[in-house]
Amino acid sequence: MQVTINQSRLELVEGDVTAQDTEAIVNAANPTLLGGGGVDGAIHRAAGPQLLEECRTLGGCQTGDAKITKGYRLKAKHVVHTVGPVYRRDGERAVELLASAYRRSLEVTSENNVRSVSFPSISTGAYGYPMEEAAAIALQTAINYLESHTDIELVRFVLFGRRTYQVYEKALKEILAHD
Ligand code: ADP
Repeated sequence: MQVTINQSRLELVEGDVTAQDTEAIVNAANPTLLGGGGVDGAIHRAAGPQLLEECRTLGGCQTGDAKITKGYRLKAKHVVHTVGPVYRRDGERAVELLASAYRRSLEVTSENNVRSVSFPSISTGAYGYPMEEAAAIALQTAINYLESHTDIELVRFVLFGRRTYQVYEKALKEILAHD
């Protein structure tokens, strides 16, 4: 599914974020930025060991913030590492922290003159954020950003598996219906 926001494209695809040909991909990292499981492990495996070397120089990343590195062996030239909230730990702050992870990722993308970026579904794996709620926050934050910034031409959500894709598709249709 794809929609146009301002002059930019917002896309939902089912797939693997490590394989995307957008200029940047986003990593759902942890605060150490030293690698982990899930999508983080997959990105480090695909990018090669130089990614970890660069990440070691960054001094970690706070929840809700984002930092950029090169993409090394990935098709994408850059990786934007962001840290989403841990759902049970962060309680009522989780909503704002999840929105912030997406917003900061988009800001860092813009600051580096990157025109296209792919996101995985942040915080909905090991960090336990319920998928339906996370999808609505992710999509609304991306839409708000694209409505107020024109430099990013493509934001792609790369959803791992059919069920995740369907949850995001339903959430996007609901947001568009209420506009
Ligand atoms: P978090 O710690 O932020 O919850 P996870 O990596 O555990 O991050 O999970 C985030 C989401 O990424 C989950 O929905 C998971 O299914 C998905 N995922 C895992 N591997 C990939 C991949 N290669 N591409 C895209 N999404 C992935």
